[in-house]
Amino acid sequence: MMSVAIESTAARAARRYLLMAVAAMALIAGLWQIGIWSREIALQKLDDTSRQELHRYVQHLQGQLEKYEILPGILATNKRLVNLLQNPGDRERIEALNRYLETVNELAGTSDTYLMDVDGLTIAASNWASERPFVGRNFSYRPYFQEALKGNLGRYFALGTTSNRRGYYFAYPVRWESRILGAVVIKIDMSAFEASWSGSDSILLVTDPDGVIFITSEQSWRFRTLDPLAPEVLQRIRASRRYGEETLTHLPISTLEVRGDRSRIVHVGEGVGERYLVRKSEMPQAGWRVHILAHLDAVGREVLQVVMLSGLLLLATLLLIYHWLHRLRSARERARYERQAKSLLELRVREQTKDITEANVRLMQEIEQHRQTHTQLQRTQNELIQSAKLAVIGQMSTGISHELNQPLAAIRSYADNARALFQHNRIEDVDWNLTQISELTERMAQISSQLKQFARKTAGRKTPVSVAAVVADTLRLLASRIKKTRIDWQPPAEPLHVAANMVQLEQVLVNLVGNALQAVEQVADPHIEIEAYSLPAERRVAVEIRDNGEGIPEHLIERIFDPFFTTKREGQGLGLGLSISLRIIEAMGGWLSAANRPGGGALFTIVLEAASPPEER
Ligand code: ADP
Repeated sequence: MMSVAIESTAARAARRYLLMAVAAMALIAGLWQIGIWSREIALQKLDDTSRQELHRYVQHLQGQLEKYEILPGILATNKRLVNLLQNPGDRERIEALNRYLETVNELAGTSDTYLMDVDGLTIAASNWASERPFVGRNFSYRPYFQEALKGNLGRYFALGTTSNRRGYYFAYPVRWESRILGAVVIKIDMSAFEASWSGSDSILLVTDPDGVIFITSEQSWRFRTLDPLAPEVLQRIRASRRYGEETLTHLPISTLEVRGDRSRIVHVGEGVGERYLVRKSEMPQAGWRVHILAHLDAVGREVLQVVMLSGLLLLATLLLIYHWLHRLRSARERARYERQAKSLLELRVREQTKDITEANVRLMQEIEQHRQTHTQLQRTQNELIQSAKLAVIGQMSTGISHELNQPLAAIRSYADNARALFQHNRIEDVDWNLTQISELTERMAQISSQLKQFARKTAGRKTPVSVAAVVADTLRLLASRIKKTRIDWQPPAEPLHVAANMVQLEQVLVNLVGNALQAVEQVADPHIEIEAYSLPAERRVAVEIRDNGEGIPEHLIERIFDPFFTTKREGQGLGLGLSISLRIIEAMGGWLSAANRPGGGALFTIVLEAASPPEER
């Protein structure tokens, strides 16, 4: 049992750890997935913003270029330019045209406006009054000039050889009757394009077809290349003097992730560097490629926030689930414990009930046994009482026969007298004698009825019994034995009643007075006192029987109430009188005690419950 319990506890702990590990892994996997999703969403958002910004910027560049595109064409139709090209040495015309071009340049907001002859020599320029005017300089090597001489709109961007400023050039041929006389050129300052890029965190790049960055909001990247340039390409660029003396070093960019054909994530710089989301757009007319580089820091921050928040939420959810499961489990365990406790209790109750039932059965059996014993005892006791009574009658038989013989003898003599008187016809005297006979038979009938009543078996029902009456009856029963013994009996002034069975009480008194008579037989002046008095505080009545015999030997006082205890000679006593008397009195709720009188002789006291006289009830 024990090892199984330990094993199951260990298994439970292992299962719990496994569950926790799985939960932790699930949490990490979940957070990882959330990280991937949130990164994707953030990147998508960033890409959208970049696309919009890029579009706006490309539109802006396009607009700028288109705005100036038509200007050289319009200028080329101007007669003054044609006239000067037709008369190149005319100083006045040169000056006038210089001023005209200066005005146009100013009004159009271009950087420079100038006129070149067919050899590429600048013959008039808006910057005629500046420190380094273009006039007299030959730009025939510039591709825009060459393109214009072919009759097309020449476009070019380059670092100005004189100004060292980045410019975009538009050149248009100046014709006279379909013959090209020269070209008019306008130059736009491209630093304005950079200036227009502000208010965004993203970096902007404009590269030429060789990958050289020539417009960028990141100053340090200017004139750097996206890819390392091959020596011949570098040579070609040098020859065109497009970027002057700039070294055109490679900007270390490595692609980390390609996200569609126009967008990718790159790492820029040596070592730690920076990561960007790059999006590009083509400007085919200008031959440019515009790139926008958005920092990934914000994405990282956003992903971190989302992951942390989700982590907290997931953790809280897991804790809630754990808590809930824990509560569920403890509730289940509690229910199991309660069930176990209940069944244990039921078992105990059953066991105890069984015990109690068995004890009950035993008790009932014992009660039954006791009842039977009691009944047996009762029966034995009744038998004893009865035999004691018969013994008393036996004892009294001599007295009784004397009692009856006396009136019988008297009756006989009264009858003889009556017969003799009748013969002498003394009728009156006959009548007197017959009356005496009648009275004597009455007395005999009384004695016989008392004996009958005494011998009768009785049920022990209690009724109010007059003490005076019962004592008088006792004395009458014992009259034949009293002889010369002085009986001192004063019935109480107030009638006293006790709750008793009259016949049984009479039997007790017959016993006690009988014993007293026996005790005083050998005494010179035999004397018995009977006294009845009330104990009002206890609602009891006491009857004392005192004699002037020898008393009871002190060492026997304890034993005289034992059945068959007697000190009398064979045939004189059975030793049952006192034991039966004690039982009778106790059965009636009273008590019986024996003592020796100080002046000699024995004293027996009966105490019984007082009762109201029958007529009062
Ligand atoms: P029994 O009279 O048949 O001996 P009892 O139970 O009536 O039986 O009395 C038991 C004994 O108590 C008597 O044998 C006697 O020794 C003693 N006894 C009873 N009454 C008296 C008395 N009044 N004086 C002295 N002894 C007595």
